[in-house]
Formats: sequence, C-alpha cells, structure tokens
Amino acid sequence: MADTRTPEQRSRIMASVGSRDTGPEKLVRSLLHKMGYRFRLHARDLPGRPDIVLPRYRTAIFIHGCFWHGHKNCGKSGRPKSNVDFWNEKIDRNKKRDAAAIVSLKALGWRVRVIWQCQLRNEMALRKRIERYFAGAV
Ligand SMILES: [Zn+2]
Repeated sequence: MADTRTPEQRSRIMASVGSRDTGPEKLVRSLLHKMGYRFRLHARDLPGRPDIVLPRYRTAIFIHGCFWHGHKNCGKSGRPKSNVDFWNEKIDRNKKRDAAAIVSLKALGWRVRVIWQCQLRNEMALRKRIERYFAGAV
C-alpha cells in the first residue's frame, strides 16, 4: 500500500481509529443488545479498560482496530511504508499493552475475547462467533 499521506494526516486518522465510541464498537454493542445480552461499557476499574463487559458471564470484550493493534496475518493491518520506526514502535507498544491487560484480566478470573475490526463485516459470522463465546459460559 502506497502511503501518500503526511505523518500528521495519518496521525489524525489513527487517533480517530483509537478513540472511544467508534463505529465498530457500536456495531458489536447493538448486536449484543439484539441477542439479549446485558453489558456495561469501558470498565475503567479493570485492566486495559475492556470496551464491553458482561458481568454475568464474567467476560470482557475488546474491539480492536486491525492496524492499531497489529492484527496478525490480516490484510487490514498492513503497516505504513513511511515513518516505519514510529509506527512499529506505536503498534508494538499497543500489542504489549493488550497482552498485559489480557493476562491481568485472566488472573482476576475474567474470560477475555478480542473482536477484530475485520470480523465485523459479516453480521451472521459475528453472531455465530458471539454465540460460541457464551455457549456454556454460565
Ligand atoms: Zn484484522
């Protein structure tokens, strides 16, 4: 992918990708709601501040942008060809932080699920994925 944007432009785009209440998160929320799950948002008291928490299932969900969180083997996670060190460092830092949050949450007895941005395109598939998450979880 040719990177025609200036670092500043890209930085702005990426900042908006990482912000709260993004499209992907709303999509997962509304699907969970339709499926009858009750949840709360942005659990600030939990490691990594999971995007969605389902206390009844003791499950924490992160919704990760593929680029921002370095989704492995994903077509959407291609790293920019310019400012390589800058982006590598940033993404690697995010990945480390994500991994640490998952370890801490598990240590507290939470199940952790990560939903990637690229998994949101097909609602049926996402619905099945969510059903699998909670099958027999209670
Ligand atoms: Zn992905």
